Amino acid sequence: MFSKSLIRYTFTLLLFIELTSFVTMGQTNKATQPLVVGDLNIYKLQDGQTYLQVSDLLGINPDKTKKLVGDIDSVCVPINSYLIKTPKHVLLVDAGAGINSGEDTGHLTEQLKKAGIEPNQIDAILITHFHFDHISGLTTAEGKPVFPNATLYISKVESDYWMRDLDSIPENQRIRASKYRGILAPYVSTNRYRTFLQNENLGEGIKAMPAYGHTIGHTVYAFVSKGEEVWFIGDLIHFEKIQFTYPKVSLLFDYNGSMAIDSRLDYFRRAANTNAYVAGTHLTKIVKLKTDENGFKAIPVNSY
Ligand SMILES: [Zn+2]
Repeated sequence: MFSKSLIRYTFTLLLFIELTSFVTMGQTNKATQPLVVGDLNIYKLQDGQTYLQVSDLLGINPDKTKKLVGDIDSVCVPINSYLIKTPKHVLLVDAGAGINSGEDTGHLTEQLKKAGIEPNQIDAILITHFHFDHISGLTTAEGKPVFPNATLYISKVESDYWMRDLDSIPENQRIRASKYRGILAPYVSTNRYRTFLQNENLGEGIKAMPAYGHTIGHTVYAFVSKGEEVWFIGDLIHFEKIQFTYPKVSLLFDYNGSMAIDSRLDYFRRAANTNAYVAGTHLTKIVKLKTDENGFKAIPVNSY
């Protein structure tokens, strides 16, 4: 009796180990297989996920929404950062939501390690905009930089708005502004904080392109290598099941909804024309775009 149950126990344990290692291996493989674009190795690293309210969508009737996402109140979307290994540098685009968001986030550094990179190896972090799901992962709760050797890059427009004299910031945004400053402080105080102008070339074929609307200085980063392009589009899109088909749908929390729509249409049309890879913070896959009726069709790239 004892030995029978022991055998069963051992078998169950082995099966469990087998399944566990299979799952772990699957995740490891996913993180360590880069998308190769010219001389660039690109890794989509999922920091976590968040839930976006369907009621935040503007410019679409609820029946259409239901058809596309079902009869639900919120949609779960990933929060991605991207690791880019160039011949000379190791870069990140955005830094995730960190561990204190109250949601399942803060996995960026473990994802980085799976791609063979330690946080102190990151040279530069290109920030698309100052929202918590993009910058909170930069700094620990104790105010220590998670990436001690990285220089931050951010649009001057975005930076000037939030980093100006606190008294000149609208009162209802001051708490937010203070929090942003706290997150950025370890980088600012060690002179590792740079701003750039619209369309500035950041070197190594990297261009910072204005895509304003979601925030005041929201930026798309285009990397060009050996004739191929990959664009890190940040929050140009949040609801992939809705806003590719209906790109004129905006969000309640866009800084300027109509400007956000114009930016989305402009970059999506250009991405379709140039055949650029498109990598978004809240997209489940890296995609290429094709125009489709009044909207766009997103074609996922391999397992990315
Ligand atoms: Zn976001």
